[in-house]
Amino acid sequence: MVTEVDPRIYDTTAEITWCAGCGDFAILKAVKLALADLDIAPHEVLIVSGIGCGSKLPDYINANGYMTIHGRPLAVATGAKLANPDLHVLVVDGDGDGYGIGGNHFIHTCRRNPNITQIVENNQIYGLTKGQYSPTSDVGFITTTSPDGAIEAAFNPMAIALAAGATFVGRSFSGEPKHMAELIARGITHRGYALIDVLQPCVTFNRVNTYAWYRERIYHLEEEQGYDSSDRMAAWARAQEWGERIPVGVIYQAEGAPTYEDQVRALEGGSPAGRLLELAKMPATEQYETLKERFI
Ligand code: SF4
Repeated sequence: MVTEVDPRIYDTTAEITWCAGCGDFAILKAVKLALADLDIAPHEVLIVSGIGCGSKLPDYINANGYMTIHGRPLAVATGAKLANPDLHVLVVDGDGDGYGIGGNHFIHTCRRNPNITQIVENNQIYGLTKGQYSPTSDVGFITTTSPDGAIEAAFNPMAIALAAGATFVGRSFSGEPKHMAELIARGITHRGYALIDVLQPCVTFNRVNTYAWYRERIYHLEEEQGYDSSDRMAAWARAQEWGERIPVGVIYQAEGAPTYEDQVRALEGGSPAGRLLELAKMPATEQYETLKERFI
């Protein structure tokens, strides 16, 4: 990967409090690499997160950041994108935040198709609150809240995103930061909502889905001869795979669909944030005449 922007421009001096070996470190690195690869400067990006270990990420990256309440980053990100469509808007949150508490926002963001990228740090457990089973925990997974093993069927984010109309559905593994950076860059350049589910070991509370567990199972779709990621039914079949074989890469991409912003008439006159800034620079009388023209 050749970069012009040095990824170190995104570094901060904040003390990182993740456990040693946590998959979140690779996600942080991959986000920086992807932004650098796309020549996106820190002031051109907003990273929105929720609550959870991985949702601390905006603190560890030199860019605009917003930590919202639990499960709400997609709603905040969509609002920010509407206010300033020129901004690259990323959501970074965990499986509990994104698929559990924020599950409803997830489904409706898939069908709305705003031009934002969501990276879900999927470690199949609630790490910050010390190890309860999460929406993506497999049946039988033993935790403090499921001592006899989880009895609920696991949430399948790939299949649900497809069914809800997502136009970009991808998956990566935090043991492969370069692959992840490339996938994140593809998600950012995709016009529309892009979901990137990252298989991210929680080395402290999840002793089942470890780096070794994933390495034995993942395979790369880009190496599968004849796989066509624009074929929705082929994507649907791959989205069901879990257990012995787990696909990573672009599972599905549909290009050319209108984004949510494309269809919002209020944006026809340009970025609301940009127009507000223009207005702020005008003398008061001119501001009044401009506002009259716009709203009366
Ligand atoms: Fe990472 Fe798990 Fe530690 Fe949280 S508890 S920082 S997810 S290893």
